[in-house]
Amino acid sequence: MENAPLRRDPVLRISGTHFPVETLGPGRRLGVWLQGCGLACAGCMSRHTWDPGGGAPRTVSSLLGLWRAALARGADGLTVSGGEPLDQPAGLAALLAGADLARARARAPGGPAAGRDIDFLLYTGYEEDEVERDAARSAAVHHADVLVTGRFRAAEPTRLVWRGSANQRMRPRTALGRARYEAHLTRTASGPRLQVVEGEDDVRLYGVPLRGELSALERRLRRAGVRLTSPSWRP
Ligand code: SF4
Repeated sequence: MENAPLRRDPVLRISGTHFPVETLGPGRRLGVWLQGCGLACAGCMSRHTWDPGGGAPRTVSSLLGLWRAALARGADGLTVSGGEPLDQPAGLAALLAGADLARARARAPGGPAAGRDIDFLLYTGYEEDEVERDAARSAAVHHADVLVTGRFRAAEPTRLVWRGSANQRMRPRTALGRARYEAHLTRTASGPRLQVVEGEDDVRLYGVPLRGELSALERRLRRAGVRLTSPSWRP
């Protein structure tokens, strides 16, 4: 049954995926970045994810294949970010429901993740009340163990781990989310905040930089003779 096709196989527009991501939630995680965001926060580091027609289409079943492979390789969790994931609520709901089913199977006795805790962390630029009062968004977050909510505000820097600005809220929603994230709600970042991954024709930075960190990185690279041609944080 594990490989049976979904009766309905929604398509999500995706900016990228990566495993293992180690800077967006605890442990080694599958990262899925959804394409499209109309919130246009000033100072967003991911402007390449704004265009809803950008990125590439991907079926939920193919993403669940990545998730099952990540579980078999020891994934501690799934992080969904963007772009704005809640601008594709039906596909996101299907992805998280399928990921939940795969998680339960993997954690069963004899499964590749037997007995291991595995959480779902979802980033959204919407505020908590904007999620709750919208039926489609609210349904889409049903399986998320933890939400990070709120626009990125460049004028409100923070050192809190896994958050980009001080206004953003980290909200555990399940018993697992509360148990796993309680210690991180007020924790400041101590290890690396950014992970650098080389793609086929670009370099990707995964994580949440401190204020000024991206500009400092550009300067260091320039001094080393490397010029970034179109960094995603520049208008
Ligand atoms: S910070 Fe997030 S919510 Fe804001 S514009 Fe960028 S992708 Fe959208």
